[in-house]
Amino acid sequence: MDIPFLSLKEVTALHADEINAAVQRVVNSGWYLQGRENATFEKHYADFVGTRYAVGCANGLDALIWIFRAYIELGIMKPGDEVIVPANTFIATVLAITENHLVPVLVEPNPDTLVIDDSRIEQAITSKTKAITIVHLYGRMAYTDTVGTLCKRYNLKLIEDCAQSHGCKSADGCVSGSIGDAAGHSFYPGKNLGALGDGGAVTTNDPDLARVVRTLANYGSAQKYVFSYSGRNSRLDEIQAAVLDVKLKYLEEDNNHRRIVANHYYDNICNSLITLPERLFDAQNVYHLFPILVNGKKNRDGLHDYLEQHGVGSICHYPIAPHCQDCYANAVWNTPRLSLPITERLADEELSLPIGPTISIEEAHEVVKLVNSYEQA
Ligand SMILES: *Cc1c(COP(=O)(O)O)cnc(C)c1O
Repeated sequence: MDIPFLSLKEVTALHADEINAAVQRVVNSGWYLQGRENATFEKHYADFVGTRYAVGCANGLDALIWIFRAYIELGIMKPGDEVIVPANTFIATVLAITENHLVPVLVEPNPDTLVIDDSRIEQAITSKTKAITIVHLYGRMAYTDTVGTLCKRYNLKLIEDCAQSHGCKSADGCVSGSIGDAAGHSFYPGKNLGALGDGGAVTTNDPDLARVVRTLANYGSAQKYVFSYSGRNSRLDEIQAAVLDVKLKYLEEDNNHRRIVANHYYDNICNSLITLPERLFDAQNVYHLFPILVNGKKNRDGLHDYLEQHGVGSICHYPIAPHCQDCYANAVWNTPRLSLPITERLADEELSLPIGPTISIEEAHEVVKLVNSYEQA
């Protein structure tokens, strides 16, 4: 059996002709940065998300960095202010906060939903809190009415990390990236909407935020050779924008395929060592990943090896939580080192099964059979 965790080669091959034509168009145009392709994709992506603005940038980490930096430049946040963030996220969410000399306040997830536990947010709010960051981790909608109410009551910005949630919807039908005050998106090749290299975007309805983000990502310049901020070069290039504009058309179709695979997993996985996260309504999960929880690290690692021996790829997202990483070992907010037992347990027990726009139901069924036949390590 050979069922890779995700084959980017097959994903690209799904729309190879259109992608190749788009790349050729840019190559032949002689215009490679800040041109028509960016403008077109930004418009289409903003329409898709449902915001007034989408601003392309170099990658998802930068998108998040620029949001916080723009709020600082606009005088809405200042270094030392606190930002609430789920403790169990890809480290980029936390890096964007610390990069701006803001203080991350890590909040445990709900172990059933795997996203931030909204019942733990209010106790984490202090007079220094300026924002709540939610991460729609694994493609799962993280916004709840409680989050919205807390933002209003305490006058906090709501920032969404949409790196894993392209097309995911809230209970009232809003697409992720249009729910908060600003959202960071990643177009890393493996994401639900992936480029053929790095890419990212910020979506917002706030014209000031959009303008400052665009300026920061272009050396801090809105007008050629005039610099309002000390920014960086963090732009989305024209080839990636053209590729993304092709792939955006197929995103809903791809997400629906992911749902079919996920529903097959939900309906058929049955192993007393394994717990599946709470099953959400289809619209609220775009299944960027299909996480399962395996009873104990030994069994989790055992299942990974067992699948590998039988030709099936699986990956843990993520084996070391941000607060346990060396880069934060001496951080003031992490001294003494935080104890976040739910997050730490998830790092030991999570394993992601193959899912994507190209895996077949037959392949998914082979994965199920193997998972169900796994016995205690
Ligand atoms: C991928 C990812 C990012 C970073 O995006 P890049 O484009 O890889 O920089 C940020 N947050 C989360 C949750 C991610 O999964």
